[in-house]
Amino acid sequence: MTDIVSNINKILQEIPKSVKLVAVSKTKPIKDIKTAYDAGYKIFGENKVQELVNKYESLPKDIEWHMIGHLQTNKVKYIAPFVSLIHAVDSRKLLNEINKQAEKNNRQINCLLQIKIAKEETKFGLSVNDAEQILKEKNTYKNIIFSGLMGMATNTDNHEQILSEFKQLFDTFKLFKTNYFADNTNFKEISMGMSGDYKLAISQGSTIIRVGSLIFGKRIYI
Ligand SMILES: *Cc1c(COP(=O)(O)O)cnc(C)c1O
Repeated sequence: MTDIVSNINKILQEIPKSVKLVAVSKTKPIKDIKTAYDAGYKIFGENKVQELVNKYESLPKDIEWHMIGHLQTNKVKYIAPFVSLIHAVDSRKLLNEINKQAEKNNRQINCLLQIKIAKEETKFGLSVNDAEQILKEKNTYKNIIFSGLMGMATNTDNHEQILSEFKQLFDTFKLFKTNYFADNTNFKEISMGMSGDYKLAISQGSTIIRVGSLIFGKRIYI
């Protein structure tokens, strides 16, 4: 077995069956994805539109592609035909465009609202209040499926801080679930946790983890 496949299997053995593992293949070559695919693994995440489109076009069509990174409004049209889940919706403008492009493609697109939980200034994301304003008007987005929330913890060794940021996301999820999606089973995902913190994330209720370097090895860029 290659390293990539054994890394995936190791993680799958550790996590509950109910948690979805997105293998983050950004910057990695197509052959690495093919290796995982040939072993039966079909859920991959990318954070750049051009790279995502190239890989989509080069690989089998039963792969579930997740757009996990910051998405520019003018690039939504390139991924709208095939993307399975957009993790990081961080503005109303972006949501409007996804809705429009989904309609053009005659489909509904699964989206997560990215909530800013990290203390760092550089991270994208909505405040809880901004997300709530969007959800008050959720019925106007006919071609969006509101699937849940996503967040990224501060890049720190301080486990207490990471735990409290993940807990904050879980509490926000519960609040929104109660207030806006009590009868809607689509709103069920909490995408949180990466190579360094996925165990902490699962302990706080994560349902989707996004793991890159632990599967494919260190990246040279980003
Ligand atoms: C790169 C990336 C990941 C994966 O990071 P690793 O630390 O390599 O697991 C997860 N989420 C997002 C949004 C990313 O950009």
